[in-house]
Amino acid sequence: MEFMQPEEELKLIAEYNRRFPYKVELHVHLDGAVRPETVLEIAREREMTDKLPHKTVEELNRDVILVEPSSLERLLLSFSYFMPIITGCRKAVSRIAYERCEDAAKHSIRYMEIRYSPHLFANTVDNGYATEKGDLTPRDVVLAVNEALERGMKDFGVTVRSILCCMTHQPEWAPEVLALCDEFRDQGVVGIDLAGMEFEPGTPAEECAIKKVFKKAEKCGIHRTVHAGESGTARAVKEAIDHFRAERVGHGYHAYDDRDVYEKVIREHIHLETCPISSIMSRACEADPQIHPLKQFVKDGVSYSINTDDPVVLGNTLTDDFKFAGDMGLTDEEIIRGIFNAARSCFASYDERKRIVRELKQVYGDH
Ligand SMILES: [Zn+2]
Repeated sequence: MEFMQPEEELKLIAEYNRRFPYKVELHVHLDGAVRPETVLEIAREREMTDKLPHKTVEELNRDVILVEPSSLERLLLSFSYFMPIITGCRKAVSRIAYERCEDAAKHSIRYMEIRYSPHLFANTVDNGYATEKGDLTPRDVVLAVNEALERGMKDFGVTVRSILCCMTHQPEWAPEVLALCDEFRDQGVVGIDLAGMEFEPGTPAEECAIKKVFKKAEKCGIHRTVHAGESGTARAVKEAIDHFRAERVGHGYHAYDDRDVYEKVIREHIHLETCPISSIMSRACEADPQIHPLKQFVKDGVSYSINTDDPVVLGNTLTDDFKFAGDMGLTDEEIIRGIFNAARSCFASYDERKRIVRELKQVYGDH
């Protein structure tokens, strides 16, 4: 991402808030949306500055933010700089969840689903981030996030729901993720996701622990989204739909590479949570925005939305992604259609979804 001067950025945000005063975001990771200033402050508070080689926001950003198209592996590597500072600390988890609400409100996001792996913030499990064992369980993490989001919603006037992530490299965590989705379904947890490096398609559904968990989620009435077709193929998107019973797919760009899969996505009204800037920086898509699959999705009547994914690593905001979609050739009307698609595909309760769509119509007219 190019860096803008603060005044320029404020002007851009104000302009986009005028054009799109009610935004909906479905795909953003809590651990990918941490403020760099907060990471530095928490490191000082927890006396962990020896674990962080950076003293200033600029230094931290230099290592964490991708400045040119890289890879999904490189994107995930950025997390290893700052996650050990947050993991295992209830106060830190609570703070980043609360601040996320404030950051969302700044960009006129009125409904947001934030996703995270409770296990990656806990220190009772081996997650590669916790610097020492402690007593913060994945369940405690969910409690802390729920409480912080409640406060954030009240203080900043944004509705926030959460999605709990299973991680591809840790299938043994998946049953507990499902249990937490079930336990907290009335306290803002609205769905389950599969994140991390993209899963390899090909394992029979009955042999894959995570696929079994997603099937159970469907039975329990828990909404499902899966990262697929980002670094992976159309086949992964097909399995996300058929085996994981995904109602939405995170990214899903490569569905377009296979006619049958692409038609299936359209026919079965699978919503694709596109993240335009992320897709270029992770090299999921060609660097030339003029041939971005999102343009095709718009033309072909796919249900798409526009999202940020991991702002701390990409240096982006939802305003930037809306602008990027515009630079790609999407009209304001097409961007607004993406907002309506997001609202209609969100995992909130039926009544809440209806309320959001009604509010959108008041702002943008019928769509
Ligand atoms: Zn993602």
